[in-house]
Amino acid sequence: MKTTNYIPYQEYCPIDCSVEYRRKYHVGDIFENKAKCLSCGDVIMSKNRHDFIWCSCGKLGVDGGSHYAKRIFQSIDGWEELSVAYENV
Ligand SMILES: [Zn+2]
Repeated sequence: MKTTNYIPYQEYCPIDCSVEYRRKYHVGDIFENKAKCLSCGDVIMSKNRHDFIWCSCGKLGVDGGSHYAKRIFQSIDGWEELSVAYENV
């Protein structure tokens, strides 16, 4: 399991912060980049642009942090999108 050791961007860029404020800290438009695997039930969240996370059964991967919602999956209907966008996009 990959671990991360930086401060989550949600802590310094809350969901209602402005676009200009986010850009200053190089944060994109996705507040929570996450998805649920319907095989193992894991909800996984990418916390950074290069934070590529797999669910425990390995059928779903998410990547992109606040910048883009990349999904890797075995089956198109085997997962559920749960991402939350910033309010000011
Ligand atoms: Zn899974």
